[in-house]
Amino acid sequence: MSDIRISGLTKRYARGAAPAVKDVSVTVEDGEFFVLLGPSGCGKTTLLRAIAGLETPDTGTVHLGDRDVTALPPRRRDLAMVFQGYAVFPHLTVAENIGFGLRMRKEPRADVDAAVRYAAGLVQLGDYLDRYPSALSGGQRQRVAVARAVAVRPSVLLMDEPLSNLDALLRLSFRSELKALAKELHTTIVYVTHDQVEALSLGDRVAVMRAGEIVQCGTPMEVYDRPVDRFVGGFLGTPPMNMLPGEVFGGRGVAGIRAENIEASTTERAGALAGRVRLVEPLGSQLLVTVAAGEQDVKILTPTDFPAGDGADVWLSVAPERIRWFDADTERALA
Ligand code: ATP
Repeated sequence: MSDIRISGLTKRYARGAAPAVKDVSVTVEDGEFFVLLGPSGCGKTTLLRAIAGLETPDTGTVHLGDRDVTALPPRRRDLAMVFQGYAVFPHLTVAENIGFGLRMRKEPRADVDAAVRYAAGLVQLGDYLDRYPSALSGGQRQRVAVARAVAVRPSVLLMDEPLSNLDALLRLSFRSELKALAKELHTTIVYVTHDQVEALSLGDRVAVMRAGEIVQCGTPMEVYDRPVDRFVGGFLGTPPMNMLPGEVFGGRGVAGIRAENIEASTTERAGALAGRVRLVEPLGSQLLVTVAAGEQDVKILTPTDFPAGDGADVWLSVAPERIRWFDADTERALA
C-alpha cells in the first residue's frame, strides 16, 4: 500500500516566524492523484518537501504505507520527485537522463530502452533522445525531469509545478497524458500547483491551502460547487465566484454565485436584477460579460451570440439553489 498519512505536521523556518505549514493532518489514498492548491506562499511546497524528507517538520509525522518515514532521509523513502528547480544531468543525453534511475537499479538493457522510449513519448521528446540538455529549451529540460521520474514507475510521485515552463498547448496535452498515466500505473501522486484549472482537471481530490493550513479538501466538484468559505469560492473558477451583498437576491449574508449560473436576458423579467453591460470579453467558446448592477459589478458567461453589447440593458437571474451563502462576518459558508 502506498498511502501517505500526514499527522499534525507543523513547519516553521525560523523561531517566532509564522509557521509555513500549520498542524496539517491529511491522508492521501493509495493510487490517488492528490493536488495541493493555493496562492503563492501558502505552504504547498513546504508540505511536499516534508513528505519528500527535504524538510524536517517541527512536529508531526509522515507515514508512507505502514512505515513511519518522519526521520528517514529522502533516498530511503522510496519515492520519485519532480521539483521546480528540476535538475537534469548536463553530461548525459536525454535518453541517459530518463533511464538513469532504471540503470541504477540494474534493470536489463532492453527494459530500460523500452521504458525510456515510453516516458520520452509521453512528454513528446521521442525525437530528442540523443541530445544533451544544453541543446534543449527550459521547457524541454523540464520534460526530461518529468520523464525521468515517471520512467521508474514509482509507487509515490511528488510533483511541484512540473508544467510551469511549458506552453499552453503542451501543458494541456501533457496534463491529459499524466492523468491517464497515473491511473495506469496506480501511482500515488501529490501534485503542487497554484493553477486552479490544472488542480480541478488533474486531481481525484484537491486540498486548498491558505496560510499554512488546508482549508478544504474534496473532489474537484465539491470544492468548486461547495466552497467552505469565501476564500475557496474566490480562488477557484474563472472568473472567481461573484460575491453579492444579501439584499441583492434577498437573503442574509453574502451570495456567492458562479458566472455560469447566472442567466441574462435582454428583456425585463420579474424578480431579475437590472444592470447594464459594461464590458464584453470574448473567450472563444463563450463571452465573459461584466454587468454593472447598481454598485456592483457582476461577471457572467454567455454564449457567443449573446445579443447585448456595451451599454445594453440586461436582466440577471439565478436559480436559488445555485446560490452559495456566506456569513458576512466569518466568511464561512452558511449551508
Ligand atoms: P509558491 O507557490 O510561491 O511556491 P508555496 O505555497 O509553495 O508558494 P512555500 O514555498 O511552502 O509556499 O512557502 C511557505 C512560507 O514559508 C512562505 O511564507 C515562504 O516565504 C516561507 N519559506 C519557504 N521556504 C523558506 C525558507 N527556506 N526559509 C524561510 N522561509 C521560507
